[in-house]
Amino acid sequence: MFELNGKVAIVTGGNGGIGLGIARGLAGAGARVVVAARNRAKSAAARDELGAGALAIDVDVTSETSVAALVRETIEQCGRLDILVNNAGINIRKPPEEVSLAEWREVLDTNLTSAYLSSHAAFPEMKKAGGGKILNIGSMLSIFGAGFAPAYAASKGGIVQFTKACASAWAKDNVQVNAILPGWIDTQLTRKAREQIAGLHESVLRRTPAGRWGEIDDFRGIAVFLASSASDFITGATITVDGGYSIQA
Ligand code: NDP
Repeated sequence: MFELNGKVAIVTGGNGGIGLGIARGLAGAGARVVVAARNRAKSAAARDELGAGALAIDVDVTSETSVAALVRETIEQCGRLDILVNNAGINIRKPPEEVSLAEWREVLDTNLTSAYLSSHAAFPEMKKAGGGKILNIGSMLSIFGAGFAPAYAASKGGIVQFTKACASAWAKDNVQVNAILPGWIDTQLTRKAREQIAGLHESVLRRTPAGRWGEIDDFRGIAVFLASSASDFITGATITVDGGYSIQA
């Protein structure tokens, strides 16, 4: 039920952080993983670690032509596309009155429009193959407000609604689309946050019922579940992976 032998998966931002955790899960279950990101050295290292026929393909998820080329190259090299993980993301931490239009667009393009571009390019291939799985990565800021991240929160709220729209549209084609909402996970993104937000480390420990930061390997299981036939009747769902952060009163 959880086995992914013969399946091909693209993971955007799969060269580090949560994307690498997801890529490890998928490769461990037998999928051939395409690591799709900008930093070639990091992508090559991830590809080598993943083995099992893994590939690294350069992509800038904000560019329509680059994303289309990613899907085209995946089909050329692997012959099919079964799983798409829209994980690449950035944050620019500023209160709304300080965010420039260029910064707003950079965050929305990287976190939200990217998911549209990739899903739009991948869907015809999945339909042709008789089905597929799309996993979109949201955030606690898909649910909660935060004065320091207006563009990020807008993008991650949008990811949840985009997930539901695609899930509704593509259920008849056997393509399931779900969102994962991570809590506070130890990655490069949050190491920067810890530098920028005083007391963040302690407040995450205090506020998270599990009493720890998440690790990237905490995403292996959920990735396999949502990418495998085990979740074939689950679509449009948002699943938290947060050590209980979002249910703590
Ligand atoms: P990292 O900074 O570790 O990883 C971000 C990844 O995105 C990198 O692999 C980077 O690769 C890639 N990326 C960024 N911009 C682009 C681009 N324009 N084109 C292609 N790839 C790009 O962050 P995380 O692992 O923490 O974050 C992964 C996802 O999880 C993001 O969507 C983030 O918002 C979300 N998330 C993270 C949380 C956390 O606590 N860490 C909490 C909630 C959500 P490269 O630079 O090589 O292109």
